[in-house]
Amino acid sequence: MVSCKTIIAHLSEYLDGEATPEMRQTIERHLRGCHRCNVVYDSTRKMLIITGDERIFEVPTGFSDRLHRFLDDAVLEGPPAQETKK
Ligand SMILES: [Zn+2]
Repeated sequence: MVSCKTIIAHLSEYLDGEATPEMRQTIERHLRGCHRCNVVYDSTRKMLIITGDERIFEVPTGFSDRLHRFLDDAVLEGPPAQETKK
């Protein structure tokens, strides 16, 4: 049995894809059966996704103009009628 401590110690390696195949298997097997490590794994993964998404802020030139035009069009068209007949 692998301890939670070992799993968590190797989580970032695993998420970076740098863990050995044996370690990947060990971690995956452990995560399936261990809620605590699953929570740690999940929040670590989400944190990495958020960090990766920061690249979105490097928007190409003209993008925000297009975005504003799109938003203007959307506002002009107006939201769909929200009458619900019951
Ligand atoms: Zn665990």
